[in-house]
Amino acid sequence: MCRHSLANATIRNLRALRDKRHDLLFEPVQIGPVTAKNRFYQVPHCTGMGWLRPKMAAALRGMKAEGGWGVVCTEWCSIHPASDDLPHPNAALWNQDHITDHALMTEAVHSHGALAGVELWFGGASSANHYTRETAIDMTSIPNLAGHPYQTRAMDKSDIRELRRWHREAALRAREADFDIVYVYATHGYLLSHFLSAQTNRRSDEYGGSMENRTRLLRELIEETKDAVGDRCAVAVRYSVGGDDGESTALTQERRDRLEMLAELPDLWDININNYYQEMGVSRFIKEASLEEHMSFVKSVTTKPVVTVGRFTSPDTMVSQVRRGIVDFIGAARPSIADPFLPKKIEEGRPEDIRECIGCNICYTGDGVGTPIRCTQNPTMGEEWRRGWHPELIAKKASDASVLVVGAGPAGLEAARALGQRGYQVMLAEATRELGGRVARESGLPGLGEWRRVLDYRLGQIAKMPNVEIFRESELNVDEVLSIGADHVVMATGASWRSDGFGRSHPYPLDTLTPSTGILTPDDIMTGPIPDGPAVVYDDDSFYMGGAIAEKLRRAGLPVTLVTPENVVSDWCEYTAEQYQVQKNLLELGVEIKTAHSLLAFDDREVMVSCTHTEQQQTIKADALIMVTARQPNDELYQALNQRSESESHILFRSLRRIGDCEAPAIIAAAVYSGHRYAQELDAGPDIPCRYE
Ligand code: ADP
Ligand code: SF4
Repeated sequence: MCRHSLANATIRNLRALRDKRHDLLFEPVQIGPVTAKNRFYQVPHCTGMGWLRPKMAAALRGMKAEGGWGVVCTEWCSIHPASDDLPHPNAALWNQDHITDHALMTEAVHSHGALAGVELWFGGASSANHYTRETAIDMTSIPNLAGHPYQTRAMDKSDIRELRRWHREAALRAREADFDIVYVYATHGYLLSHFLSAQTNRRSDEYGGSMENRTRLLRELIEETKDAVGDRCAVAVRYSVGGDDGESTALTQERRDRLEMLAELPDLWDININNYYQEMGVSRFIKEASLEEHMSFVKSVTTKPVVTVGRFTSPDTMVSQVRRGIVDFIGAARPSIADPFLPKKIEEGRPEDIRECIGCNICYTGDGVGTPIRCTQNPTMGEEWRRGWHPELIAKKASDASVLVVGAGPAGLEAARALGQRGYQVMLAEATRELGGRVARESGLPGLGEWRRVLDYRLGQIAKMPNVEIFRESELNVDEVLSIGADHVVMATGASWRSDGFGRSHPYPLDTLTPSTGILTPDDIMTGPIPDGPAVVYDDDSFYMGGAIAEKLRRAGLPVTLVTPENVVSDWCEYTAEQYQVQKNLLELGVEIKTAHSLLAFDDREVMVSCTHTEQQQTIKADALIMVTARQPNDELYQALNQRSESESHILFRSLRRIGDCEAPAIIAAAVYSGHRYAQELDAGPDIPCRYE
């Protein structure tokens, strides 16, 4: 019998009736020749899998369908080797093998009654073709837009004819792979965007000049895709209506005019905006339903169904979008990643069980890094195939053992929740009154309030589990842990920020830093009083923390300088698509920024820094120096218990483990994953299979 069919203590057997107000979301919607069973539409989104990892991708998409999404789409899917995005893992439909690979996905999606969509893609100047070494082509000879030292070949008429043939043949392969919806992808800065724009299109042939001419290629691709596969597949167009990116009113108006001109040509409009930082915005800067003001006119110019995104997690907001005629479908990428079962939970009348996306964009980092997707809220995301994990189901406990979890941060909370779901007797001890560990602290930083959902979701689930007990204000020592007598002990005691200068650019403590009251850490700033004079934030960590601490201090009225050895502020935020906004925000707030400088010394009055290129030194007046460098695992209790168990002649517990930041400080997603994996693998024996692809 399969592990998942064994049982799941927290899944209700009886379906509660859904809220009548949400009925609207479960109406079928016709899209050309096909019909979606409801209004939940997983728009194309990257997974870091692409054509390299088709089995993982198929299992992931199938899980969305199982969770109730009426439409489930691929990621951007190349029509020809002349459009290759590696190291960013795009999907592809170049040959028979790819048809077979995609058929895995369509079969998985269809088996749950959902429609499968494929986003046919041609990158133009955005793809450097590092893997295939084909010459990239675009409307004209444009430097590679991802910053690589290549330019495209300007497309002549024969190139345009070839492109149309490639697109048509890819559409036919898509139909053979059994897709129901085939996209023409006309936005996000890829090839078609350049043809459409009056700003970039300076061609003098029939593909340049008037709006009709610049639209010619898009129109041809829509018509030819319909002609090729329209009998069985719907043809969707992904299209930008402009937005807040400094574009002139005339250009934005033209986008609207073109939409009106083509209004009835495709079977569905998938609408987005130019500003990717808003469309894909982190919750730190962008809230739910942020595209509405730009796209609310769309339904007044077309009778075809319309979908857009907005990081929708509230069913009431979704209903309101449909009722007010903004959209026909609730488009989602991130909410479907954080909770593949979001539609089912609304349908079963249990919206309180939704694992709401926190808008951290960790899911997007796989695309940049070139590795499979992960999610802060959903530790099973990307693990459906290789570890056989399911976001809602988990194997029943394999023994009557009890488990003591020490520390209620994201790792401890997820371990307790998942162990509780398996049916184990769980005691969760937390030193402080407040639960949540770093999540509780960090969600108090400017803009990060939604991160509290990591805590709220888990506490909501644990509250329904009589077999999980939480003990607040219970800072345990070795004797107390042993006196509890749990069979398994797991340390989730987190990590603390260091103040000694040790970090990425100084892999040793700085001996020029004598302990001083002026040297603080992010933990001090998040929990205690903040300094009252000028402050320097030294960011050798380069993710969000340095920028968030600088913002908090600046908003409190302090003169703040952010110093980093990197060439930009919050360098790793490039992967979460927020680096630009972080730096812009800090500059607008009046934070002084000093990049490419390392910390040398601090004497309670001045911070001495040195240029990483020239070694030229300079001083910055400051009463406080905040060290955002590295963290020290809080593993003393683990080490002491480990030592004790090795020195005792009798067995103290069946197992002792450490998880999360206590084991290895990392991002919140890693702590949640670590807690989940511990729970999944308890009592599972030493050889747990993992299918690496
Ligand atoms: P992680 O990210 O790995 O979950 P956190 O730092 O967020 O780690 O959380 C660790 C939690 O462990 C904190 O809430 C902290 O108060 C708690 N903690 C640390 N030491 C003890 C202890 N000895 N007994 C109980 N709780 C502890
Ligand atoms: Fe949402 Fe963060 Fe998960 Fe992405 S990683 S889906 S932004 S919670």
